[in-house]
Amino acid sequence: MTNWQEYEQTTRRFLIEQVKAHVSPKRWQHILGVEESALELAKRYQVDLVQASSAALVHDYAKECSDEVFLEAIDTYQLDPELKQWTNEIWHGIVGAELIRRDLKIEDEAVLEAVRVHTTGAKEMSPLSQVLYVADYIEPNRQFPGVNEARELAKQDLTAAVAYETKHTLAFLIQKEVPIYPKTIETYNSWVAKRT
Ligand code: GDP
Ligand code: FE
Ligand code: FE
Ligand code: FE
Repeated sequence: MTNWQEYEQTTRRFLIEQVKAHVSPKRWQHILGVEESALELAKRYQVDLVQASSAALVHDYAKECSDEVFLEAIDTYQLDPELKQWTNEIWHGIVGAELIRRDLKIEDEAVLEAVRVHTTGAKEMSPLSQVLYVADYIEPNRQFPGVNEARELAKQDLTAAVAYETKHTLAFLIQKEVPIYPKTIETYNSWVAKRT
């Protein structure tokens, strides 16, 4: 684990330079907001700051890649061919992690896992994965009904914020009548559903 000062002057600078050049100005603002929120949550919940910052800076690196890039990467990295049935929303984290490993030289598996699950969540999520998942939802540029309640919950109880986000995202997707990725349902069953 590198210390913050060393990271800030080396890897963080490199990630900023690379990611900023790869995404639109609007997405770059979002990414900086996610880093800010992720660092706040990491301090509050004793998550490593270097991992929180790097996961945040890279999490949407692949968001503006073309479908062809993802479809090719699914073959190249021998990911589940079923993924080809999905779209950018699902690919940019799960498949994006491989592009991040390749282009941004991120080798920390915990950071790559946090990126993989940042959109859908997962049955089990490390504290780092929870920090990124929630930070992506509550960062200062986000505006949607319920965001302030999510921000308040995140200050009190990280797992409660994960559950809140999972429930509201699933309700939103159902409202839009878009396909639900199976892992999104697994996340719901694990973090939200009450078992009697
Ligand atoms: P962003 O990359 O910062 O915009 O945020 P996310 O990576 O969290 O989410 C990207 C998009 O994927 C959002 O519009 C989500 O609502 C959407 N999304 C999340 N889960 C699913 C799912 O299971 N199915 C579909 N179709 N979209 C999803
Ligand atoms: Fe994303
Ligand atoms: Fe998200
Ligand atoms: Fe994001």
